[in-house]
Amino acid sequence: MADYGSLVCKDCVERLRLGKILWVPDTGKAHASGFLSGLAGGRGYNHNWQDDDLNYSLFAMLAKHSGHEMVAVTDDELSEAFPGRVPVISDVPDSKFPHSALSESRTPVRLVTRDGANAFPLGSPLLHNHRVVQFSAYYDQLDDHELSPRIWGFLARWLSSPLVVEMG
Ligand SMILES: [Zn+2]
Repeated sequence: MADYGSLVCKDCVERLRLGKILWVPDTGKAHASGFLSGLAGGRGYNHNWQDDDLNYSLFAMLAKHSGHEMVAVTDDELSEAFPGRVPVISDVPDSKFPHSALSESRTPVRLVTRDGANAFPLGSPLLHNHRVVQFSAYYDQLDDHELSPRIWGFLARWLSSPLVVEMG
């Protein structure tokens, strides 16, 4: 299966392309475990969590749409959910804010499933000109290489399920 995924904000009708869905073959229904992106020159695929620009864009997308209804979907689900109105692709930031350029709010935030039973900690909101533009979890994963695979895995695990960034 060569399905591709997007993280969509339903409120803003905007999406971030997540890349090729990595399916884990199972005895029954296939499960997604992560996302892959193409390498330059057609040299195959890499895990998205290995790409810093993609990690930055993912955390920035979650920051921009805090409190909004979001969902990670396959391309098929995307066209079903938004017939005739494909969500615009969210801009990947041209440049990354250094951690020191942002002011930190102390309230922790989490990415949670609609029932609230499953959550991924995003750390603290980081603001620029009073807008939340990033989460401290992005900067934490620069040193801790275990965090970024887990956020992509969380999105894969909850593919097709409504998600929201909320105060922890
Ligand atoms: Zn939004």
